[in-house]
Amino acid sequence: MPTRKLYWEDPYLKEFEATVVGIDGNYIILDMTAFYPQGGGQVGDTGRIDSTAVRNTIKKDDTVYHEVEDPSIFKVGMKVKGYIDWERRYRIMKHHSASHIVEYFILKNFPDVKPYSSGLVDEKKDRQDYITDIPFRDEDLRVIEEEVNRFISGDHEIITWTDENGIRHWVCEFIEMKCSGTHVKRTGEIGSVRISRGKKPGKGRERIETWTI
Ligand SMILES: [Zn+2]
Repeated sequence: MPTRKLYWEDPYLKEFEATVVGIDGNYIILDMTAFYPQGGGQVGDTGRIDSTAVRNTIKKDDTVYHEVEDPSIFKVGMKVKGYIDWERRYRIMKHHSASHIVEYFILKNFPDVKPYSSGLVDEKKDRQDYITDIPFRDEDLRVIEEEVNRFISGDHEIITWTDENGIRHWVCEFIEMKCSGTHVKRTGEIGSVRISRGKKPGKGRERIETWTI
């Protein structure tokens, strides 16, 4: 049964009420949820449902599974209250929105470079790998960082929506991407970012890490 995705309807929703529709081992399934499930390069949300901790959130097909510390307190049909670990999720949202802007300016400055699969964004930073034989130089990254921060300080609106095929889209000024993550509404919320070369992920690849300061 598909879970109604409150995290797309309102990514700023911190608390919500829902009904337990399934229990599978340590996983609780609700009719609707604001907990973002791990996917699209973004980590799963943590927080609390009623009195028990949510350790992680995952998705199988279109159903969201909340991994809880104590599943024994739940029964199917029960009304519950969910609380997102908001401080963590908000940092993830800022990093995720920043990561798209960084990717845009990396590709603009290095037209021969291609992104390597999807990255990983959590509350600490965003990591994105790129296919290139030439290591990124620090002086180039400082120029890109400046460009990114100049763009962010323009406080542009970020719009996300689902198309008729269920694909999620992300648009900010002239930057357009497909993305199923949760995002801030305006770039001004990101503040400013630092970018740096991460540990080399493999031959012919380079890693860029982005975090907010
Ligand atoms: Zn994304």
